[in-house]
Amino acid sequence: MKQTASFTCTVCGAAYRKWAGKCDACGGWNTIAEEAPLSTGPKSLGAKGRPIPLSDLATEEAAPPRASSGIDELDRVLGGGLVPASAILVGGDPGIGKSTLLLQAAASFARKGLKCLYISGEEASAQVRMRAQRLGLTDAAVQLGAETNLRDILTTLDAERPALAVIDSIQTMWLDSIEAAPGSVSQVRASAHELVTFAKRRGVAIILVGHVTKDGQIAGPRVVEHMVDTVLYFEGERGHQFRILRAVKNRFGPADEIGVFEMTGGGLAEVPNPSALFLANRDQPAPGSAVFSGIEGTRPVLTEIQALVAPSTLASPRRTVVGLDSGRVSTILAVLEARCGIPFAGLDVFLNVAGGFRVSEPAADLAVAGALLSAREDVAIPPDMVLFGEISLSGALRPVGQTENRLKEASKLGFSQATVPSHSKIEGAAGLMVRQMPDLTTFVGEMFGAG
Ligand SMILES: [Zn+2]
Repeated sequence: MKQTASFTCTVCGAAYRKWAGKCDACGGWNTIAEEAPLSTGPKSLGAKGRPIPLSDLATEEAAPPRASSGIDELDRVLGGGLVPASAILVGGDPGIGKSTLLLQAAASFARKGLKCLYISGEEASAQVRMRAQRLGLTDAAVQLGAETNLRDILTTLDAERPALAVIDSIQTMWLDSIEAAPGSVSQVRASAHELVTFAKRRGVAIILVGHVTKDGQIAGPRVVEHMVDTVLYFEGERGHQFRILRAVKNRFGPADEIGVFEMTGGGLAEVPNPSALFLANRDQPAPGSAVFSGIEGTRPVLTEIQALVAPSTLASPRRTVVGLDSGRVSTILAVLEARCGIPFAGLDVFLNVAGGFRVSEPAADLAVAGALLSAREDVAIPPDMVLFGEISLSGALRPVGQTENRLKEASKLGFSQATVPSHSKIEGAAGLMVRQMPDLTTFVGEMFGAG
């Protein structure tokens, strides 16, 4: 049987019939490479397979027993702890601290009595040991290995049968049965497939580390996302101290959950109250600042949205947006102009979330509009006020989910007033003075005079 060639984007995993210079799925240039197909399926259709055991829908499955690491921020993102025989992918930019986090996690699980193996394909065991010394983890019974040959690794894992094995990183692993370089889509996928299958068969939890790649030389973690149970991304700006572990997929718990860590000399420290961290260095009440009460996963997080609006000398003024969806910001600017008659033409607009945090909820619309108007009108929003609410294209304000949790968190942090859309459920306002606004025009009038 003749095999047809297949082409895959090394960054996002999109499949193509033929080669192209640009990936339509992610917009990357020169990221598409030819790959050998992973499996050609059953060799002959005549051969008989074995019948598989079937069960009915009423059969009750007990909830999976979970192992706690004792690191609350990690356990929460995992959905309540580590599930045996599960496969977890931890992606992130190179150098962001993935190895540090996972070495600390392995040490914590080991201290709780789990047998843990840490296989590094990137560093020698001595280097990993040095990191462990720096982090004060040498007392934990984690076994180290430095290897990239997956056949040897699987043989070792089968003999050792640990409860948890960390593979750092999946891009360095290679199978001798695949004719492709380590880091290619075929090798990364085949290696991940072998490890995930091993995890399920032998009851070993496996954590795969995957470096996010920008160019097309090495396959990124997205090409194996569909194979694993849980996908976590470790995010953060290099210039900032804190790191976010975010669940984007979890078969054993809620997605969108986040864990917040702070990079310290002794490794990553938990941040149990992220709102306090993000608002810690707030300046005196100044125009252009608005505090947004957001929800990340199951937890409320308060962040400060900062705007700067200045006359522009450019034909098409700047729109610099960091930490927010720029399309969403453009929509809010258009609604302000069309529905409230407040133009931003001829003005440069800079918007960011303080501390380098990323906000993706539409509930942030009202705080973004508040920061923009406050900067443009040079009027400060009261420093003890939080804002949240979605803005529709008509200029109406829409209530958002978990209003009570948002208000409760604001109250806990000492805020005394809130501006929210009309018809929000504010029964548990927790002692806050809550102002309800039907639309953006009313908001502009009440907060900044008649616009
Ligand atoms: Zn792509």
